[in-house]
Amino acid sequence: MNVIVIGAGFGGLTTAIECKKQGLSVAIYEAFAKLKPLGDVISFGANAGKILRRWRTPADDKRVSDLFDPLSIKLERNGFNLHRSNGQLIFNQKMPPKDPEAPMFNGHRADFHQIVFQYALDMGIPIHLGQRCQQYFESEDAAGILLESGEKVTADVVIAADGFRSIGRDFVLGYHLQPTESGHKCFRSWFTGEEILKDPETSRFCSNGDTFTGWIGHDVHFLFSTLKDGKDCSWAITYKPDPVIDGLSRTRKERLYDIFKDWDPICHRLISKTPEEKILEWDAVYHDPLPTWVSMKGRIALVGDSAHPMLPTSAQGAAQAMEDGVTIAVCLRTAGTGNISAALRAYQNIRYERVKSVQRTGEATREMWHRTDWDKVAKDPSSLSFPREDWIHSHDAEQHAESTAGDEIERVIGLRLS
Ligand SMILES: Cc1cc2nc3c(=O)[nH]c(=O)nc-3n(C[C@H](O)[C@H](O)[C@H](O)COP(=O)(O)OP(=O)(O)OC[C@H]3O[C@@H](n4cnc5c(N)ncnc54)[C@H](O)[C@@H]3O)c2cc1C
Repeated sequence: MNVIVIGAGFGGLTTAIECKKQGLSVAIYEAFAKLKPLGDVISFGANAGKILRRWRTPADDKRVSDLFDPLSIKLERNGFNLHRSNGQLIFNQKMPPKDPEAPMFNGHRADFHQIVFQYALDMGIPIHLGQRCQQYFESEDAAGILLESGEKVTADVVIAADGFRSIGRDFVLGYHLQPTESGHKCFRSWFTGEEILKDPETSRFCSNGDTFTGWIGHDVHFLFSTLKDGKDCSWAITYKPDPVIDGLSRTRKERLYDIFKDWDPICHRLISKTPEEKILEWDAVYHDPLPTWVSMKGRIALVGDSAHPMLPTSAQGAAQAMEDGVTIAVCLRTAGTGNISAALRAYQNIRYERVKSVQRTGEATREMWHRTDWDKVAKDPSSLSFPREDWIHSHDAEQHAESTAGDEIERVIGLRLS
């Protein structure tokens, strides 16, 4: 079976790696011409850790999860300190000891992306860079893509892992879907910690290993991390836009100073140490669950952000994209070349409800911090914990796909015949 994957993000790379593991022939087409160190902090929950742990480098049989480990934040010592906006500590959330079978990682997207990208290459997967897909097409027997270069590529199945602005999604749905405004904006940053370390008021964040600190208030939260033994700093702020603050054309820092003017002064201080050019701003947008992830003729499917973008507060965007990749590969191998459309529909059926529930956690966490029930917190401060829900993290996508794909494919075929 020949598989084409569009996009070399975590969704596309995982799909290709898992297809290769399942004995399928696979190639990736990616728009970017070379790997660039883009992005900032990204999370891989234990459900993703299980997938990374199973991957072993062909040259020296190292687990890919062991390559992630040194690049990830270490919170065993300091945990997560959550504060009210006035600086009062609400509680210190201890981090559980690392589970070697299901490790979790938080670190710079570019560092982790480089590792997975290299692993895919080492497995012999062709990754065609600088190849933007312009159009998707399919018939009863095949599917394909038209590249910007004018070249057409066909295969038995096409997987669109082309991210939030997916054109694969337009093809699958048959129309262009406008993103839904979440009503919130985000500011994010990643920078080296020298200035934070120099200032006696802020040095404690960088001089004592990695840290993770949060401040929450009405319609705003601020998460600040130090990583790589305190050498790098990263923060993410989610807030509800205010026409007065956002309406004026001022620098990002000036707007942030307004948002945090009545907060713990340390918030202002941390922002003041952040280089202006390192502050990114974007609207937190998402899509309501799509009516389908599979094209009309059943030869093209969506994975990752193209199917189900997540809010940053879910901390599951990469992990859910990886679970998709694992599941689709098991379904394709199980169904075989004669049953591709059943494989893709089974993939959607196996994944859909779980993904929808994970998506909802992003909103739930944001609301818990933005519209806090302080009476409840007085009785139980840990009710504001950074969520690590067991049903999300304990999931083993490969085991689940192996135990459900056969029946689900038969069910889909049965429905089609009846
Ligand atoms: C540059 C970048 C930076 C990011 N930074 C962060 C971050 O800091 N923190 C975080 O939590 N999440 C970040 N994300 C999002 C995060 O990586 C995803 O939410 C998650 O990993 C799911 O990945 P995905 O593979 O579905 O989509 P993506 O990671 O978005 O990957 C999609 C890939 O498809 C490629 N592509 C798109 N259109 C085409 C086309 N027409 N033809 C060929 N290729 C195409 C894109 O270049 C991209 O490489 C970032 C994504 C990108 C692309």
